[in-house]
Amino acid sequence: MLPQQVDVLVVGLGPGGASAARVCAGAGLSVLAIERNKAFGEPVQCAEFIPNPMGAYAQPEGVLLQRIDSMQSFLPSGAVEHSDFPGLMVDRGEFDRAIIRAAEANGARMVTSTPLLGVDAERHIARMRHQGQEQEVAYRVLIAADGPHSPTAEALGLPALPIVQTRQYTVPLKKPYTATDVWLSDDYPGGYAWLFPKGDWANLGLGADKRLAGDLKTPLESLHAQLVEQGLLGEEIRYRTGGAIPVGGLRESLFLGDVLFVGDAAGLTHPITGAGIAAAVVSGEAAAEAAIGHLDGDPEALDDYDEEMHDQYGPALDRACERRAFLNEHWRTPRAQEDATQRRGWIAFSEYFNDGTRVA
Ligand SMILES: Cc1cc2nc3c(=O)[nH]c(=O)nc-3n(C[C@H](O)[C@H](O)[C@H](O)COP(=O)(O)OP(=O)(O)OC[C@H]3O[C@@H](n4cnc5c(N)ncnc54)[C@H](O)[C@@H]3O)c2cc1C
Repeated sequence: MLPQQVDVLVVGLGPGGASAARVCAGAGLSVLAIERNKAFGEPVQCAEFIPNPMGAYAQPEGVLLQRIDSMQSFLPSGAVEHSDFPGLMVDRGEFDRAIIRAAEANGARMVTSTPLLGVDAERHIARMRHQGQEQEVAYRVLIAADGPHSPTAEALGLPALPIVQTRQYTVPLKKPYTATDVWLSDDYPGGYAWLFPKGDWANLGLGADKRLAGDLKTPLESLHAQLVEQGLLGEEIRYRTGGAIPVGGLRESLFLGDVLFVGDAAGLTHPITGAGIAAAVVSGEAAAEAAIGHLDGDPEALDDYDEEMHDQYGPALDRACERRAFLNEHWRTPRAQEDATQRRGWIAFSEYFNDGTRVA
């Protein structure tokens, strides 16, 4: 049986929820964290790149797969931009499970196969299914870490976040590789294609706006075939995955009543690169600190969380949203196949940060 009442209910156990549970439980709060999937950290829906400042989270055994030093950005003309872009490739399942284990060690109760079914925010009651039975749990604070479609946000009547869809294969890598490769092209409207190496394997994927590209399989298989032909990749496909990436930027407010939003559920994922692991961890920890302060009687704690996340991430997310809006004017037109257009829309180019247009 689940507890009938907890201080903090965490919904969703990706990096955001696991981080929030870890910090709340570490402060002595009673924490129940629920995950709808059958296994923690599975299925992996990720290209598995994290920036170097997240290195501390890659230390547990089995998490770090390889180091990255640079990025190669391929433009429509075939020109390639080489940039310093250090980071780490991780086993994302192990990455998430390491944080989950730390939360459990702090005393959080973590359960799988337990989907949230509804939230009565006024009564502070969440409804979930656990071991085949519907159950209600009363909470003092709810931390919504339930990903891009956030059922919690939906239950509270908040708007759905705009998303990009992705498709990714894990394929053999025929030679050592330390760069992340990125293809910018009208073949991937609203997104881009990537090759992220991890030892003898690589994640080859792409994202696109489904309104502009209904079929992600054909362009991915075509890119795969091209790279097999070049001798870089093998034909085998070891793992197929995909998933949604929120691309609309931050929610207007990151809390409603005693419900806080973190990670993808908050809209913290970068709308151009799709990177969201670091922001999920950072916001999960910050939301937990806010929950601790709030339950300790600090009347500003939740406002402070909202302000802190907007200050830390708002300018970069606003710029990325502006760049998406710019690119959206050009997808499926000849301009999208011009290098100049793509340079304004991708983080490796100075035009992304400074092209004379008014952006933050
Ligand atoms: C193909 C792909 C590649 C990506 N590559 C990268 C990358 O290389 N680097 C990077 O930084 N970011 C990447 N991202 C983004 C990154 O994966 C997310 O930003 C990150 O997972 C967000 O963490 P989160 O904890 O907020 O949400 P999630 O990791 O999405 O976790 C949400 C959890 O909530 C659970 N959940 C949902 N509904 C319910 C419910 N009703 N009840 C209970 N649980 C529920 C879900 O099952 C899930 O486990 C990628 C995304 C995709 C789709």
